[in-house]
Amino acid sequence: MGCDGTGSILARQFFPRRNYAVIAAFQYDMVDCQLEDEASLEIFIGHKKAPAGYLWIFPKGKGTANVGIGLKGSGAKLLLDKFLQDHPKVFGNAKIERSQAAPVPVGGEIEEYVTANMMLCGDAAGQVIPLTGAGIHTSLVAGKIAGEVAGKAAREGDVGSNRLSEYKERFDALWGAKISNSLRALESFERFSDDELNIITDFLEGQDLVDMAHGFSPSKAVGLMLRHPILAMKVAHQLMSS
Ligand SMILES: Cc1cc2nc3c(=O)[nH]c(=O)nc-3n(C[C@H](O)[C@H](O)[C@H](O)COP(=O)(O)OP(=O)(O)OC[C@H]3O[C@@H](n4cnc5c(N)ncnc54)[C@H](O)[C@@H]3O)c2cc1C
Repeated sequence: MGCDGTGSILARQFFPRRNYAVIAAFQYDMVDCQLEDEASLEIFIGHKKAPAGYLWIFPKGKGTANVGIGLKGSGAKLLLDKFLQDHPKVFGNAKIERSQAAPVPVGGEIEEYVTANMMLCGDAAGQVIPLTGAGIHTSLVAGKIAGEVAGKAAREGDVGSNRLSEYKERFDALWGAKISNSLRALESFERFSDDELNIITDFLEGQDLVDMAHGFSPSKAVGLMLRHPILAMKVAHQLMSS
């Protein structure tokens, strides 16, 4: 079982991973931030701020927060540092305790992550929600299912790919469609201008954003049509063409 992240040794040796696209993520663990509301996380999008990605502030209480950026291409640290400078009220007296950088796979699940007597889980298999780059919950689910299937298979004395494919079936039933819909949503979003993104995000509520992470909602597109017909036509076009 390869649960060893994006650089997985098992994946590199035995799985082609042709669609394995990664973005760069860079994060500071900060203290002494002056956050207005420590109960809310904040997300900032925009092609200049974070090309094809976003910045986040995840408050952790008592002035501490994870502040990070995920984006396509280079310049993650520069853009994150600029973001901190642009928000002096919040970060003027804050200190960076730790920084971490790593690639995050956002190309959706790899074509095959079960073969012969081997299984990949989590980042190694691209099991990340592409629009948000979130993979903790999906990786935990994948690891749990794969562990159960591996245990049963070992007890039964059959660890062939037919037996292990139960893992893929069970994982995909829970997350497969959400990951592929989210990939389509990500591809669509990259085509909107910053102004259009501002309109779309104004129009959405908290739960809509969570739903959107799992793919565009056609019902929201219909609602948007009533208020912004031209933008809605573009959304509809993206929905049909992606
Ligand atoms: C900066 C940043 C912020 C993120 N924020 C979020 C977030 O807020 N929410 C979210 O859901 N996701 C987030 N993600 C994505 C999330 O971290 C990953 O999708 C998730 O951790 C994947 O879990 P994993 O177990 O597959 O891989 P990993 O968490 O990478 O774990 C792999 C483990 O394997 C170990 N390992 C590697 N090689 C070997 C080896 N040869 N032998 C033994 N052990 C080995 C590594 O040390 C590591 O412990 C973030 C990612 C980054 C980079």
